[in-house]
Amino acid sequence: MSATSFTELGLSPELLRAVSEAGYTQPTPIQAQAIPTILDGKDVMGGAQTGTGKTAGFALPILHRLQPQANTSPSPARHPVRALILAPTRELAIQVEESVKEYGKYTGLRSTCVYGGVDIRQQLPIVRAGVEILVATPGRLLDHVEQKSVNLSQVEIFVLDEADRMLDMGFIPDIKRIMALLPATARRQNLLFSATFSNEIKKLADALLNKPELIEVARRNTAAETVEQAVYKVPQDAKRALLTEIVTSRGLRQVLCFVRTKHGASRLARQLERDGLATAAIHGDKTQNARLDALQAFKDAKLEVLVATDVAARGLDVDDLPLVVNYELPHVPEDYIHRIGRTGRAGASGEAISFVAPEEEKYLVEIEKLLKKKIEVRTKEGFDPVAATARAATVRSTERTTRRDDARAPRERTATRPPRHDAPHSDAGRAPVGRSRREQEREEAYARNPDQPLPDRGRGTPPANGGATRGHASLGVRRGKPREVPALLMKRKAPETQGA
Ligand code: AMP
Repeated sequence: MSATSFTELGLSPELLRAVSEAGYTQPTPIQAQAIPTILDGKDVMGGAQTGTGKTAGFALPILHRLQPQANTSPSPARHPVRALILAPTRELAIQVEESVKEYGKYTGLRSTCVYGGVDIRQQLPIVRAGVEILVATPGRLLDHVEQKSVNLSQVEIFVLDEADRMLDMGFIPDIKRIMALLPATARRQNLLFSATFSNEIKKLADALLNKPELIEVARRNTAAETVEQAVYKVPQDAKRALLTEIVTSRGLRQVLCFVRTKHGASRLARQLERDGLATAAIHGDKTQNARLDALQAFKDAKLEVLVATDVAARGLDVDDLPLVVNYELPHVPEDYIHRIGRTGRAGASGEAISFVAPEEEKYLVEIEKLLKKKIEVRTKEGFDPVAATARAATVRSTERTTRRDDARAPRERTATRPPRHDAPHSDAGRAPVGRSRREQEREEAYARNPDQPLPDRGRGTPPANGGATRGHASLGVRRGKPREVPALLMKRKAPETQGA
């Protein structure tokens, strides 16, 4: 029998107070199952995706279990890392840690979050001061271990969040290295969450979990059922006008708009700004700060539209998103489910619309096959796709003329051009004094795809000094070699094209 209130779950008064302030009245199904199991000290293999309330499902019982160890001592030794939570992307890591902070605000426990793509030195003082709960992306955590700013020998609870994405993104070797630094499996509690359970995830679970309880809630496809979905059949060139029309006529804010490529994201954001919509773009070529600023503006409802690629939007969690727009259909049907899962979270109803150009019909067929249903086709009253396409052609030709004029005056342009918003990670070439080559290489890798670990080749080689983790010596070997295709992109049926 599952609990119908948080009080029945046996959580401490401090946690119940924070939960009530968060506005939660009832545990979600994953919380009702996971919280008592984790409070019992059992290992858990959780089948749940973001949007189900799984973060509170593991964060609340972790906080409850660690609460007796909270103390106000200034000594770092009194604040060892007792719970380690690994997440695949910086956005998810940040959101998980924000939740831990929110739920744990009356417990006196300390937490922080470490992720790559930013200068590690900003993170050092906080982790060195000691935190009981550490949320991390795997690569950056290993950087901290290497710098001896983090010690994992006292971890009591280990959480692997979104294990399937970890696998997709090539993080498994890093995770195995991290597991080797933890106390023995039997001496810690292990929680693994994944939306899917491939054989590889099961193998990982076998190595990690000790007689786990299997807890499964709503499969991916059921999330799609709470979302109202519709398709607009519209030529590619008329999409921008249709989007502007829908957003302005309904006075919407916080519209999350998906495109397939980084280049396409930047271009569309610029165009929508020109149409008068407050817009930002997030994608892997944006600097970490630009991404965080855009996310914050979006969360604060300062933006009408946030244009995102699939990778950049992973884990994005904003309550009550009114509308998700698939400006271009994904080529992998499962990505459609991920995308529309950004609206209608935790049981709320949401709306997702897709703009389908004639050349994208084949992707729509695949998506409908996965959903096992047809998506309703809508038309926008008063919207003339032929006129919109003609207008787009005129605008394009004006833009071409402007670009030609720009090209004729390169000197003025260099002198006056503002910094490009979508320029690749500008920190990559700037090695601050004292930064290790290892760190510089890592940042270069992040600049290419911020959530992607370095290719495994050469990293497992033990350092000459026999240290516990990866050494610098092996990294030099990779210099000058052709760049490997990130695992995540290899999964895609078609590579990202710049012109899309
Ligand atoms: P998650 O699946 O952890 O990403 O959570 C998805 C969203 O659901 C977050 O915005 C949470 O704040 C919200 N949430 C979590 N638990 C509850 C609950 N019991 N009642 C209402 N909302 C919740």
